[in-house]
Amino acid sequence: MKTIGLIGGMSWESTAHYYRVINQETASRLGGLHSAPLIVHSVDFAPIAAMQSAGDWDGAGQQLATIALALQTAGAEVIGLATNTMHIVADAITRDLSVPFVHIADPTSDALLADGFETVGLLGTRFTMEMGFYRDRLAGRGLTSLIPEVDRTNLNGIIYEELCRGIVREQSRQIYITAIERLAARGAEAVILGCTEITMLIDDSVSPLPVYDTTDLHARALVGAALA
Ligand code: GLU
Repeated sequence: MKTIGLIGGMSWESTAHYYRVINQETASRLGGLHSAPLIVHSVDFAPIAAMQSAGDWDGAGQQLATIALALQTAGAEVIGLATNTMHIVADAITRDLSVPFVHIADPTSDALLADGFETVGLLGTRFTMEMGFYRDRLAGRGLTSLIPEVDRTNLNGIIYEELCRGIVREQSRQIYITAIERLAARGAEAVILGCTEITMLIDDSVSPLPVYDTTDLHARALVGAALA
C-alpha cells in the first residue's frame, strides 16, 4: 500500500473523521491488523480562515502547495486535501507535485453517477456554494448542482461558528434539514455534504434526500488510490 499524505486541520474536527475512515477502510480491505501508512500535516486553521475572509487565495494556495511538496518529500505517494473549500487552490497545490492528488469532488461525482443521479443539491461554505470552482467540476462530470436560494449565510455560519469548533446543535441540524427539503422541492435527487464537517450534523437517518458525504467518500477514495 502506498503512503497517503493528508493536508488537514481545516478543521481538525473533520480531519479526525478522515483519520478514522482511512484506517477503517484500510482494515476492511486488507484485514487483520492492517492500518494505513499515513502522514498528516495539520495546519493551524485560524490564519487560513483569515486568508479566506480576506480573499487571499494566492497566499493560501502557496502555503498549501508548500505543505503538499513537503508531504511528497517525506514519502507521501498520494495526496489529499481534507476540505472542500480549499480545493479553490487545487491548481496551485498540484502544479509542482509529481504524485497523484485525489480531488474531493471526483469520488463524490463517481458515487452520484454510479447511483444514477443527475441533479444534486450542494451544501457547503459560501465559498464552495457560490464561487463556482466546485459546481464547475461537478458540471464537467455531467452533474447539475443546485445550491440553497436562502439561508446561505446561516448555513455557512454554522460551519465556522459551530462545527469547526466541535459544537453540534439540534437547532442547526433542523436548519440544514430544511435547506435539504427546499433543494428537494426544486428537483434535487440527492444532496452533497460539500463541507467536511456537515457529517457531524446530517446523515441518511435524518436527511430527506440520499446523502453523499464528501468526508467519507474522499477518505475511502484515498485508500483506493493508495492500493491501486
Ligand atoms: N472543512 C470545510 C470544507 O470542507 C470548511 C472549512 C474550510 O473552509 O476549509 O469546506
